[in-house]
Amino acid sequence: MFELPKLEYAYNALEPYIDAQTMTIHHDKHHQAYVDNFNKAVAGTEWDKMALEDVIRNINKVPENIRGPIKNHGGGAYNHALFWTFMAPNAGGTPSGDLAQSINKKWGSFDKFKEEFNKAGLGRFGSGWVWLVLNGNELEITSTANQDSPLSEGKKPLLANDVWEHAYYLKYQNKRADYLAAWWNVVNWKYVEQLFAKK
Ligand code: MN
Repeated sequence: MFELPKLEYAYNALEPYIDAQTMTIHHDKHHQAYVDNFNKAVAGTEWDKMALEDVIRNINKVPENIRGPIKNHGGGAYNHALFWTFMAPNAGGTPSGDLAQSINKKWGSFDKFKEEFNKAGLGRFGSGWVWLVLNGNELEITSTANQDSPLSEGKKPLLANDVWEHAYYLKYQNKRADYLAAWWNVVNWKYVEQLFAKK
């Protein structure tokens, strides 16, 4: 049984970059539906007793006949729970410390990193996510389809943006690139730095 996590900030706290209506529907309707459908999918199975994170980490061990809905709705429940924490009001800017150094080392500059991340988000055909992950000790930008999670591939998520249309359509319509560009203004780098420090 997994419960919908509360948002740590108000629905309008990420305005003007993410509007209150999108946040409300995204959290209260979309995320809630993933949570409810995941709970239904695991009900009566051994996977019901595991932490959601462990289910996603071991998704390929879930028997094939029940894996589909557990993967899709569990992934949706897990990815969105992370997503809300990757954003904060009065955030954005640039990372600092070890994370900033590692980003610069890998991509040359923070701007180049952002460019590559946006490119991966824009290049995801249909619905999915764009991620900054740790693959072993290596920073990596990756993108997943639907509600797939890099955690299922043994990678540690550090940051993600949701590129499903439901994440941006009310404000940005078809302009995913504008959404991707604006989203950097709400990235919670302090939190991402903490995740990176725990690696
Ligand atoms: Mn979403």
